[in-house]
Amino acid sequence: MKHTHDSLFIGGRWQLPIGTRRIEVYSASTEEPLGSVPEAGEGDIDRAVAAAREAFDDPSGWASWSPDRRGEALERFATALAKRGEQFARLVSGQNGMPISIGRMSEAVSGQLLVPYFAGLARSAPAEETRASLVGGSTVVRREPVGVVAAIVPWNFPQTLTFFKLAPALAAGCTVVVKPAPETVLDAFLLAEAVAEAELPPGVVNIVPAGREAGASLVRHPGVDKVAFTGSTETGRKIAEECGRLLRPVTLELGGKSAAIVLDDADLAGQLTAFFSATLLNNGQTCYLGTRVLAPRSRYGSVVDILTGLASSLQVGDPLDDATQIGPLVSRRQRDRVEDYIAKGIAEGARLTTGGGRPAGLDRGWFVQPTVFADVDNSATIAREEIFGPVLSVIAYDDVDEAVAIANDSDYGLAGSVWTADPERGLAVARRVRTGTIGVNGYALDPGSPFGGVKASGMGRELGPEGLTAFQQLKSVYLP
Ligand code: NAD
Repeated sequence: MKHTHDSLFIGGRWQLPIGTRRIEVYSASTEEPLGSVPEAGEGDIDRAVAAAREAFDDPSGWASWSPDRRGEALERFATALAKRGEQFARLVSGQNGMPISIGRMSEAVSGQLLVPYFAGLARSAPAEETRASLVGGSTVVRREPVGVVAAIVPWNFPQTLTFFKLAPALAAGCTVVVKPAPETVLDAFLLAEAVAEAELPPGVVNIVPAGREAGASLVRHPGVDKVAFTGSTETGRKIAEECGRLLRPVTLELGGKSAAIVLDDADLAGQLTAFFSATLLNNGQTCYLGTRVLAPRSRYGSVVDILTGLASSLQVGDPLDDATQIGPLVSRRQRDRVEDYIAKGIAEGARLTTGGGRPAGLDRGWFVQPTVFADVDNSATIAREEIFGPVLSVIAYDDVDEAVAIANDSDYGLAGSVWTADPERGLAVARRVRTGTIGVNGYALDPGSPFGGVKASGMGRELGPEGLTAFQQLKSVYLP
């Protein structure tokens, strides 16, 4: 079925775009056209920001509502999202190649989980607190919504990463302009349908499907109060520069090159499902994956054998098939990028133990075989740069101090994992890794706790109560 849209969701209604440019979306697994939508131009972005601005500035509007009143509207929104769960999963899988089993655990449910969670937090956390002033009298400390939010999201988990921003922003009383990535715009129209069905007030959520130029104009738009971005480190730097110039608050969730530290007592063969999720989930197109596998030299050969066996046994194929574990990459460009990295790995002397090419029998679609490199030095390009494909590099270490040093020797610091028979030992190692998040014997992202990175992996945190405060501004009112 082809999905064709002719209007944009701005100001609570479907409006014809100002320009005539369109975004064509292709299936990652068949390379066939999947749909087509209007591309929002600068004029549309102006209209979207103006609608969000008007909704935010309305003295009796969304921002002025009590958390309870907003919570009721957000409950309707969650219901409208829940009805569409399976559609979200299927649309995302079709566009970006995500295995449907993963789409059902993420894209289908993120909105219906996060919207009520943040609405509940906003209801339970007092917006005002009165303190005794140190100099006499009292002070009312208020948490006010930060204003109009530009939410710029990538294609790898388009719905989940939208809701990391949209759910807390709405709960805090902000209004939002969402800019999805051009590779995954169809699910954003389904999101708009849910906003409309829930009858959120006009302008509270606006959606502008567009590419990088429009994204840049949204970032610098004078009507925007805060930018929340997920995507590449390269783009994150540009956005940070612009927000620095404008002194505009920004949160950045960027790339990663995390370490999966296998300790010498780990039963890796008994943990393959969890290890797969922590290192290869979503065809390797997940920012938090531990794609540098650190293995003790005493057990190096056996770790390489186990990972080689895992990668070569994965079911590669149609992302809409329930049994598929690895689907295609999102685009031809992304496959080219991943293949370039594989070539560089070989050229720099790493030893390919499985994969490295395109899977047999899959002539259509942007597939790459799950690939394992052994004998990788941490200074190699494939150990330094984010590949964003199903490619693991196994690096040897002598003792735990060296493992921690290698884990920390990275420009990035988003995630990681420690694998061990002794969870206490795992926690002790996890404490020493310079990273925003890390798992022991798995990596199960907890939406109730802060998520984000250090170093080139970003600034600020999403999720948890901290993810709500990222959309609030503090104000102190001094009383006599
Ligand atoms: P990207 O950073 O170019 O794009 C992400 C989003 O930002 C998209 O919506 C895009 O249209 C928008 N954008 C691009 N340039 C912009 C600008 N100057 N100002 C404002 N918005 C802009 O990422 P990509 O091209 O989709 O992917 C490239 C690489 O990024 C991937 O190979 C991967 O390494 C990394 N990536 C990381 C994550 C993550 O979750 N950390 C997600 C997707 C991609």
